[in-house]
Amino acid sequence: MVSEKMLALGSNRSTIRELFEYGKMRAAVVGAENIYDYSLGNPSVPAPKEVNEALVDIILNDAPIAVHGYTSAVGDNDTRDAIADNLNKRYGTDYTRDNFYLTCGAAASLLCAFRTVIINESSEVIGIAPYFPEYKAFVESNGGIFRMIPADEEHFQINFDALYNTINENTQAIIINTPNNPSGVVYSEETIIRLAEILTQKSEEYGHPIYLISDEPYRELVYTENGVPFTAKYYKNTIVCYSYSKSLSLPGERIGYVLIPSEADDFTDLYNSIAGAGRSCGYVCAPSLMQKMIKRCAGVMPDITSYKKNRDYLYAALTEIGYECADPSGAFYLFVKAPNGNADEFSEIAKKHDLLLVSGSAFGCDTYFRASYCVDYDMIVRSIPAFKKSFEDATK
Ligand code: PLP
Repeated sequence: MVSEKMLALGSNRSTIRELFEYGKMRAAVVGAENIYDYSLGNPSVPAPKEVNEALVDIILNDAPIAVHGYTSAVGDNDTRDAIADNLNKRYGTDYTRDNFYLTCGAAASLLCAFRTVIINESSEVIGIAPYFPEYKAFVESNGGIFRMIPADEEHFQINFDALYNTINENTQAIIINTPNNPSGVVYSEETIIRLAEILTQKSEEYGHPIYLISDEPYRELVYTENGVPFTAKYYKNTIVCYSYSKSLSLPGERIGYVLIPSEADDFTDLYNSIAGAGRSCGYVCAPSLMQKMIKRCAGVMPDITSYKKNRDYLYAALTEIGYECADPSGAFYLFVKAPNGNADEFSEIAKKHDLLLVSGSAFGCDTYFRASYCVDYDMIVRSIPAFKKSFEDATK
């Protein structure tokens, strides 16, 4: 006998992976240049040169045992100091190393956060559509209940009426992700302030903190001058889940952190529970070599020029054809309304033109599809006739 929950998780490949595998199979038949694959969110910009230089230098010059050895479970002091300094400079905060727990990327940070807030089988975590599908899998596989509130399909901010009515005495946390995968939208400051007000009010009403789990792997990928409001500054019970996967193009290296602000209620218990959750998952410590690199590169910002070029071209070409897109202010995703109103059907139509788009039903929003534009610019240019034909097929 094996765990049914784990068997289901391991056997069912995600829709996105299915599509990606399909693309590879088709590429073998028709040639890679004839496949327009917008399925995966794998950064297409190489890691900044500072990252590679630091890695080479650490390997060649640091004490060899320490480079590959275990670190303390919460992470190296120097690395946590460097991360705190960087955020303090950018956001005027006063974090210290004691606010950070280093992890193997955002997924691990989220696991730690969910395992901390799920206290019994009635514990609920609210996700806001469209949302990253792993949230549901992570919450449910850790014994909690995942509640989705429908998308605000006009602006892709937060449907506050639905949120207000969904919070109840079992609500332990809300998970948000800004800039958002899949919508590419950045939550406005107004949205974050309103969210903080509701969470404060509801926490008082129910007599326990309702945590805001803020999933921020795309924080630095933003194309507007205003940037992204730093959520932890607006609500004290915020658990920030961060990763360098997207900002430094290091998704395979598995490095990130959980940030717990000192002003959070029961800070010490919260911090220790996050560390306990990491221990219960057997994470041991975040990868040592990556920690040492982050110590030197915590302040390195991504070069988003090519994502912006892709975004501008794709957005202009699609809107000219007649597609409607959510405001693509951040991340590297365009969220586009299916011209026939049904994204599952539309992505099948697009597939006939070897155009691989992820239906929004994977993200709790089945009238939109996602195009990940972290791809080669030339592929985008080549793909436009396929977008046009798909549009015509779907609207005739
Ligand atoms: N959260 C969101 C919204 C993501 O899009 C991803 C990855 O695509 C993750 C978390 C997981 O990131 P990581 O690779 O750092 O675990």
